[in-house]
Amino acid sequence: MMGKLSIEELAVFCKRKGFVYPNSEIYGGMAGFFDYGHLGVELKNSIKQEWWKSHVHQRSDVVGIDGSIITNPKVWQASGHVANFADIMAECGKCGNSVRADHIVEDKAKVSTTGLYAPDLQKLIYKHKVKCLRCGSDEMKVTLPFNLMFKTTVGPSQKKEAEAYLRPETAQLIFADFRLVQENARMKLPFGIAQIGKAFRNEIAPRDFLFRCREFEQMELEYFVHPKKVGECPYASEFYGYELNILTSEMQQKQQPHRKMKVKEMLDRKLILPWHVYWLSFEHRWFISLGAKADNIRIRQHVQEEKSHYAADTWDLEFNFPFGWKELEGVANRSDYDLQQHIKASGKDLSYFDEESKSKIVPHVVAEPSLGVDRAFLVFLFDAYEYDSKRENIVLHLHPKLAPIKVAVFPLLSNKDELVAAAKKIYGELRQNFSCFYDESGAIGRRYYRMDEAGTPYCITVDFDSLKNHDVTIRERDTTKQARVKISDLPHIVWQLLSGMIGFDKL
Ligand code: ATP
Repeated sequence: MMGKLSIEELAVFCKRKGFVYPNSEIYGGMAGFFDYGHLGVELKNSIKQEWWKSHVHQRSDVVGIDGSIITNPKVWQASGHVANFADIMAECGKCGNSVRADHIVEDKAKVSTTGLYAPDLQKLIYKHKVKCLRCGSDEMKVTLPFNLMFKTTVGPSQKKEAEAYLRPETAQLIFADFRLVQENARMKLPFGIAQIGKAFRNEIAPRDFLFRCREFEQMELEYFVHPKKVGECPYASEFYGYELNILTSEMQQKQQPHRKMKVKEMLDRKLILPWHVYWLSFEHRWFISLGAKADNIRIRQHVQEEKSHYAADTWDLEFNFPFGWKELEGVANRSDYDLQQHIKASGKDLSYFDEESKSKIVPHVVAEPSLGVDRAFLVFLFDAYEYDSKRENIVLHLHPKLAPIKVAVFPLLSNKDELVAAAKKIYGELRQNFSCFYDESGAIGRRYYRMDEAGTPYCITVDFDSLKNHDVTIRERDTTKQARVKISDLPHIVWQLLSGMIGFDKL
């Protein structure tokens, strides 16, 4: 691999290969909005499918919902978003350029702005002579907090009563529907409700490609526990031997770097509650199982000033992006804050009937794993990307479960009808079950390289021997090794390889 890939280089690669395009580029684009191309949509869908499989289908204690994007605005009043979901902006007095005040201070002065209010940020701007990024003037003025929710109107009226918001997160729909889901799915505590869907935030300054967009997607799960059992997690022991890079709030105060620690030690030292570390480990293992690198992920506890008003404790899964360690996924302990808020604001009973004590209780959310699909997309691409100097080519080592194209089929030569017909027959059969690609243009080496760049784990080539012996060559992306297999065995073998049931060396 050459030097570390920058986010700009990844964006160029994504555009060239058809993973992601700037939105409406023919009209000059739109900052903070992106379109996923033919490979990108497959990778993104696979990420969502794998998340849903492991968080909903493979668990008996989680069910899903799909809430609507526009909802009664009272939901956002009750949750606190109308009053508090804001960032502090700094505006240039000369050219009018608007940026996030905390971001320019952190970038220029290299100091933490966690928990600082507008006057403190203004002082830091003066002290460190922070200049406008666009025109270079020193007239950056901190303005009022800016609410990040996009407003719209519903129906033909333009009056205040018709105003609504595009949801800035998916989570609140889970709380609003809590009672219906719990009763109809007959869920017993502890249990979770999951959701995948679009979220919209009018970010002051979208940046770093997909990392901070204005329209993005979230995969969120609220895990509800009996208030008297928040300290008991029956599944935590599953992860006792699991190792994570950890950075506690105390380590941050002492300016120590993160270090490796086993989950058992974290619990023995009471650094974190069992449910919380269980869900952080579960999320971490999900990333690793799909090809992310453990060294690039750490868990970081929010320091006191950074904690949301509702959160009892919050840890983030952070990724070592080329622009620093940044939040990939938040896992907050939200206690009973949200359900209580909606009970108060709606006047409806959102409690749970506890059979054991024969009483009504309001469950606590001990962990809310909240992951951006687009940030996960970046992580899998960064950790899969390699410039292979021997091949003089980019190879995307995407996990087969995530690869946009699972298998490609080529005739050795495009001008031999028998080879083309045999290859198309195989392609026609395989595509019934796998996302497949057929290619007959250019030299065979170039076709392999194009598939290496797309992250396709296996390529099949039909040659003259195939016509006689009814077999084909199958090539593995990561090693470039080749093996000969019977055409009749192909669907089964491809399935076994993709699901990890056999290794390539067993062929
Ligand atoms: P940040 O501090 O980076 O703004 P946040 O703390 O506001 O993030 P959350 O509200 O915890 O983010 O949202 C949960 C997850 O949703 C984040 O961990 C991230 O993966 C994703 N996410 C949030 N905002 C954006 C955005 N503007 N673009 C892409 N993904 C986002």
